[in-house]
Amino acid sequence: MNRLSDRINALAPSATLAMSQKSSELRAQGVDVINLSVGEPDFFTPDHIKAAAKQAVDDNFSFYSPVPGYLSLRQAVCEKLRRENGLEYTPDQIIIGNGAKHELCNAIMALVNPGDEVIIPTPAWVSYVQMVNLAGGKSILLQSSMEKNFKVTAAELEAAITPATRLIVICSPSNPSGAIYTRDELKAIAEMLVRHPEVMVIADEIYEHINYVGHHESLAQFSDIKEQVVIINGVSKAYAMTGYRIGYIAAPLWVAKAVNKMQGQYTSGVSSIAQKAAEAAYNGPQECVEQMRVAFQRRRDLIVGLLQEIPGLELNMPDGAFYAFPKVEYYYGKRCGDTVINDDNDLALYLLNEAHVATVAGSAFCCPDYIRLSYATSDENLREAAKRIASALAKLA
Ligand code: PMP
Ligand code: GLU
Repeated sequence: MNRLSDRINALAPSATLAMSQKSSELRAQGVDVINLSVGEPDFFTPDHIKAAAKQAVDDNFSFYSPVPGYLSLRQAVCEKLRRENGLEYTPDQIIIGNGAKHELCNAIMALVNPGDEVIIPTPAWVSYVQMVNLAGGKSILLQSSMEKNFKVTAAELEAAITPATRLIVICSPSNPSGAIYTRDELKAIAEMLVRHPEVMVIADEIYEHINYVGHHESLAQFSDIKEQVVIINGVSKAYAMTGYRIGYIAAPLWVAKAVNKMQGQYTSGVSSIAQKAAEAAYNGPQECVEQMRVAFQRRRDLIVGLLQEIPGLELNMPDGAFYAFPKVEYYYGKRCGDTVINDDNDLALYLLNEAHVATVAGSAFCCPDYIRLSYATSDENLREAAKRIASALAKLA
């Protein structure tokens, strides 16, 4: 008898992680799969960061760490926010979590009551809606599209606000679309938010450094609404440290205190060793970040160019993050043998089975008719993947 809670029964598994696991299983069976499903840098963590992790082991950082994270790491985050973003935060406004994912969920849990509405512009990263479900909230999806460069306007956001709205989630640079809100667009959103002081905003800035059009613009720079903004960020993407699991929130003190209380009961302070590594990432040389960004930009140009040559795939040039997000509707109704493509899920599955290329269906990002390909992999893999995709799609008639 299924005796799980309603909460867990209502939770969908993460499609990005599920697809990645499926591709690992196929690879274990000897199938030569190119995994463009999960979004994580393929680079190794820079040496000076690895050295700090090793040193932390030798220095006996083996005891419980403080619930919000080591003061030295929270100071390093404050210094980063000042240096890179011109933002003033104090260490008690920073909470270190087990990746940005943990802090996102904590912030949603701390802010959303059952029945509260959370406005999520789509396409949106897979976990937002599920986290809102866990909190008992109601996701209000605000659909965008390639034609609108995958962004929503301040006016569209305002029109979606009701007395039940508690939170808006803005991800820039965006996973999965790569869209980046300009300073003017964020300013317009900030001016709108001044009229709605009861509405909070989560600014997911985890792709801050994977930006091909300029310097990162944070929503928190607009002082009139800084008290409404919860910044989410971390070391996973910028420093190729996905497995270390270090992320943070920078938030108004009352939110930080609430998240701290929750962590005290739920997780305690996160890995001591990983925190010392993250501290080295923020305090150490930053050239590695730029080197990886340049490599991602080259790969973006490569994969987007190759995909644009494939008949039927429609895609724009993403401004940031490391995903291509082509529209695949053209293939609907087409078939290869017994396989009929009716939607984006069918197409992603077909590409896995026929081309041995793992992607993620747009539906997982609340944006059907697209698929997502992560280009955080070698040029060689990208060329081979594009070749395989082109020949598998050419078989559909
Ligand atoms: N937000 C977005 C938009 C992401 O793509 C990811 C990557 N999983 C996260 C948050 C979580 O990052 P982390 O690996 O630090 O938990
Ligand atoms: N952010 C990555 C992705 O979207 C990691 C996987 C996950 O945490 O969902 O693929």
